[in-house]
Amino acid sequence: MFTRAIRLPFRLLGIPVSLDLSFLIVLPLFAFLIGSQLPVYLRLLQISPDPALVDGLTPYLLGLLAAIGLFISVLIHELGHALTARGYGVQTREITLWLLGGVAQLEQMPRTRGAEAVIAIAGPIVSVLLAGFFGLLRGVVPPEAAGGQFLLGYLSLINLSLALFNLLPALPLDGGRILRSLLALYYPHLEATRTATIISKLLAFALGLLGLLIGNLFLILIAFFIFIAASAEAEQAVLSRTLEGLVVRDLMTREVSWVPPHLSVGGLLEKMKLERHVGYPVLEDGRLLGLIGLEDLQDATLNTPVRERMRPPLLAEEQTTALEALQRMAEKGFSRLLITDAYGNLVGILSKTDLLRALQLRSAHLSLSGKSDSSTDRA
Ligand SMILES: [Zn+2]
Repeated sequence: MFTRAIRLPFRLLGIPVSLDLSFLIVLPLFAFLIGSQLPVYLRLLQISPDPALVDGLTPYLLGLLAAIGLFISVLIHELGHALTARGYGVQTREITLWLLGGVAQLEQMPRTRGAEAVIAIAGPIVSVLLAGFFGLLRGVVPPEAAGGQFLLGYLSLINLSLALFNLLPALPLDGGRILRSLLALYYPHLEATRTATIISKLLAFALGLLGLLIGNLFLILIAFFIFIAASAEAEQAVLSRTLEGLVVRDLMTREVSWVPPHLSVGGLLEKMKLERHVGYPVLEDGRLLGLIGLEDLQDATLNTPVRERMRPPLLAEEQTTALEALQRMAEKGFSRLLITDAYGNLVGILSKTDLLRALQLRSAHLSLSGKSDSSTDRA
């Protein structure tokens, strides 16, 4: 999901933190929005509107501080998830801050029943604690320090809203995960996800409708995001169930057709037409140099040599799991993976099409066996 992220030069509690490009755009926007709405917030937080506070650039400076505080709060919320997951022996690959908040990418979901719910609830609990902390701090700051009063009041309010919003029972929000995990106590995991996804989409629809009615663009955006992400979540669950137990070796194509780096784009297109492939490894003297696909040829002329357009290849080993291979391709935006042996020799190629074909075959098999199960149940 995050292809244009900047990784921070330090780790938090051993976890790498990345800032997605969308976050870097939204931060100044938030600062501006909070700054321009300052009088509204002051009324809401019952702070007497100090004229010095709404003068010149001061509101926007306060807005920036509030926005930074908001995103640090989101980061701490994600650390709450990550540390709870660690308690189950699951590490967090990365925490990413993006347009709509934070995401902690866990290496896997612990198999313990109900673990997902515990990890999910940890985030909102952290946010409620933060809200209380900022609220208490506000009580200590003298009422004359209107700037401090505003910042602490804002952060207390926003953390409480974060907790409540995240508890909405819609995937991929924390509330949706809690719902799915609780459903999975009584139903098979796939069915639990399917039910949770339907509820998520209904909720997204209702939120979107509300957004339209009250004319709130942000709400519509969030509804849209929930709808898309809930579908992705359902797909992911079906995927991991379907690809379970498969490794790259079972699916890859062994006879790999390749091209030399000096071949022209025109020659490459001819070869593609002839062999009906849309991606090739680039080899010279048996050495793997890169990967070239149809998607790399934008604005190239027929004479451009392949060397100028190839990308560093995405590599995997024969025993890499099919799910991991698919995730790697999706993460890096590649549609094929090159498989090498322990000595770095090219032994196969795996395209998204290969994976999808395997998926179709397996899911047909799964649903057939599922049907016979239910008929025996009824008998
Ligand atoms: Zn959360």
